[in-house]
Amino acid sequence: MFDHPDYDAHEKVLMVEDAATGLKAIIAVHSTALGAAAGGCRLWAYDSGVSALGDALRLSRGMSYKNAMANLPMGGGKAVILGPVPADRREAVLEAFGRAVDSLDGQYITAEDVGVSVADMKIVARTTGYVSGLDAAVGKSGGDPSPFTARGVRVGIEAAVKSKLGRSDLAGLKVAVQGLGHVGSYLCEELYTLGARLVVADINAERVTEMRDRFGAESVSVKDILLQAVDVVAPCALGGAISEDVAKHLQATIVAGAANNQLLTPQAGVILGERGILYAPDYVINAGGIIMVAGEISGHNDEAHIQAQVDAIGPRLADIFAKAKSTNVITNVVADSMARDKIAAAKAKGKVTEAA
Ligand code: NAD
Repeated sequence: MFDHPDYDAHEKVLMVEDAATGLKAIIAVHSTALGAAAGGCRLWAYDSGVSALGDALRLSRGMSYKNAMANLPMGGGKAVILGPVPADRREAVLEAFGRAVDSLDGQYITAEDVGVSVADMKIVARTTGYVSGLDAAVGKSGGDPSPFTARGVRVGIEAAVKSKLGRSDLAGLKVAVQGLGHVGSYLCEELYTLGARLVVADINAERVTEMRDRFGAESVSVKDILLQAVDVVAPCALGGAISEDVAKHLQATIVAGAANNQLLTPQAGVILGERGILYAPDYVINAGGIIMVAGEISGHNDEAHIQAQVDAIGPRLADIFAKAKSTNVITNVVADSMARDKIAAAKAKGKVTEAA
């Protein structure tokens, strides 16, 4: 465990196996320096326990960085449930997962992620109070965080377009959206409303048809979507979309999307930088959902307030782009060091407070 390549001094990693329900899960608490470790729960059919562990370790560190960069009073954590979970056991498995979350006494707060819905989180909430992403009250934000994530990605694309292309609007720009699920479909709507032209792909043909019908999107194959001659590529499917090979052959000048862990390897980010392709660090641009979740946890979830916080993703990215340009360091490395500085400052402050 301590030698795992993705282990990064995580504070705690809980391996859960519940014989009665068949639940197998990993909860990784990367850091609580800034507050309780918050991050969603992913349900995925991993090809091995080791790859599930790697996912939990990487994603939880990503949440620490994401929450720090979004200036949220929260640390970083993530849970993965090893799928598939048969439909007739899903409820029992989710209840058992809730008990595991509860055993951490609030060090970790869960929410939905890929493969887990709001309805699932309501089941988890039967066995733990440390859960967010439930339904919204009228005039309040809550429930599905995807529209907020999509809004943040849209303002991030606007900031990237301003920095790279010197334009303040998206009218007529071509954006390739990979993955038309919760976030991708809301993003298509946001971009279409602002006059962008869409090129889309998804492994699910129904979602492609819907985007074609609603927004006049052009559809291309899943294999070709990232290599389109467009202005912006928006990866909104799973992680690792930008391999070194994709980075070498990409035709867009901007990569800005919702997916977590978009760069398959650090070298892929270096190649983008060398080719002058502007990359919006994933955990900065996709923080809209966690900003909403943080509002739900703290009770400050007035919708206008949350939207204003999400809109601050634009200037934050502009700052990262400017620092990257002035220091000649790639954007994701700039963001990582800003995030680590914030976490280290919180840890140092915590130590001083403890000593006092
Ligand atoms: P989702 O499961 O609703 O959508 C993912 C979509 O990608 C699905 O439609 C799926 O069919 C499609 N897909 C999978 N593999 C594909 C491929 N190879 N090519 C094209 N399409 C493919 O998930 P989501 O909630 O929309 O999240 C999308 C990404 O954004 C994930 O990486 C997630 O971790 C990240 N993210 C989501 C949120 C949120 O608020 N939901 C917040 C932050 C980050």
